[in-house]
Amino acid sequence: MSDMRKRAAIDPEGTLRLLDETAKTAGEWLAALPEREVKATASVEELREALGGALNEESEPASDVVRNFARAAERGLVASPGPRYFGFVTGGALPASLAADWLASAWDQNAVLFVSSPAASVAEEVVASWLLDLLGLPADASVGLVTGCQMANFTCLAAARHEVLRRAGWDVEADGLCGAPRITVVAGEEAHATLHVALRMLGLGERNVLPIPADEQGRMIPSALKEALENVSGPLIVCLQAGNVNSGAFDPCAELVPLAKAKGAWVHVDGAFGLWGALLPELAAHTEGIGLADSWATDAHKWLNVPYDSGIAVVRNEVAHRASMTLKAPYYIAAPGAVRDPSQWVPESSRRARVFPLYCALRSLGKNGLREMIARNCAQARLMASLLAEDPGIRILNDVVLNQVLVRFVPSHGGDADAFTRRVTAAVQEEGTCWAGGSVWKGMAAMRISVSNWSTTDTDIRRSAAAIRSVLSTLCF
Ligand SMILES: *Cc1c(COP(=O)(O)O)cnc(C)c1O
Repeated sequence: MSDMRKRAAIDPEGTLRLLDETAKTAGEWLAALPEREVKATASVEELREALGGALNEESEPASDVVRNFARAAERGLVASPGPRYFGFVTGGALPASLAADWLASAWDQNAVLFVSSPAASVAEEVVASWLLDLLGLPADASVGLVTGCQMANFTCLAAARHEVLRRAGWDVEADGLCGAPRITVVAGEEAHATLHVALRMLGLGERNVLPIPADEQGRMIPSALKEALENVSGPLIVCLQAGNVNSGAFDPCAELVPLAKAKGAWVHVDGAFGLWGALLPELAAHTEGIGLADSWATDAHKWLNVPYDSGIAVVRNEVAHRASMTLKAPYYIAAPGAVRDPSQWVPESSRRARVFPLYCALRSLGKNGLREMIARNCAQARLMASLLAEDPGIRILNDVVLNQVLVRFVPSHGGDADAFTRRVTAAVQEEGTCWAGGSVWKGMAAMRISVSNWSTTDTDIRRSAAAIRSVLSTLCF
């Protein structure tokens, strides 16, 4: 009994020791990150062996558990927060945001209601106003902090579903979709897969989407949208994109939004990383008109470089946003008046205070630092493209307007360029200097490079380009 009591009691010094040891382990990871092999080095069998086995019957000391866990997981980690990881669209973690993320765990706040964490509520209020200002969105739009852009798309489209059906005299929150007026959903043929998942989860279906053709860069074609909307009437949601996940291209919102609005549509923009392009005046020709939409989804764990999981949903019509997300329960003590209950804007109820790392990331960069980081990554993508294009065996498939570069490898003596591109991509990943993923662009195999990390230097770009060309030269004969 006394033994049990001892174990359950709070031991501040022991906890502090554990956190110090863990900080040291984390520090070693961070210090090694720039030179560590990018890919995971353990096989799935090795990881199952290292991490697996039956759960122990008896308790184990926390410091042993964490030390052994870190050792076992180590070779299964990917250096994705490091400077030469160009896979998917992946940011790292700015030091201030990483430290704030630790605080969010240590404080263990439930950012559900004002009363459960006033600090989280007010920090969300402040971050929301900063974000609207930075991204050039309406100052009175509502903001929900979600887990990622897929859930940001979901949240925005739930508000859209509410509003277009409300206008048709239907209460979707109360009565569901059975018997509801039909909603026409329109999206570009280049829309991100997660947009379709969001539509599926909202009961709007993937097959129901009217796909609009895109041009050679992946941008929705305005005349095609106009034509598709000609015979459409009734509830309508039009989904646009800022930042194609392959090419980085922007749908021309300045032309598209008015076309959709003329038909009474709710216009949603998926801007998982592209929305941050709104910070750069030099991209105005691409980003113009984004602010005319009704809702916007973006990620913070991509280009803002905060740790996972952090996405942002912004809705112009705060009534529709709140109506689609609000949770009512007798024990819910709703905040009075203009005080923010964070959960009223997101699908979750109890949730971590993901706003703390967001707050510290934004403060540590400042407006100029953030703008500079986005501009630097764009310039680095252009540098990468120009260095690779010097090689006669390499073709760049996209206009590098943002941070994405699509690369195709052409075998010197003819042959199947798709198979060759996949082979070179796999060999680049294996070589380990950098990591970039494979994709398919306009029916062609491609390697996709995304430059989204705060810590990437021009030297990293040069080193990676050289490694890619060197891998290519060993495969060319
Ligand atoms: C990454 C991405 C998403 C999904 O974001 P998650 O954070 O993975 O949920 C949606 N749309 C686009 C354009 C993306 O690049």
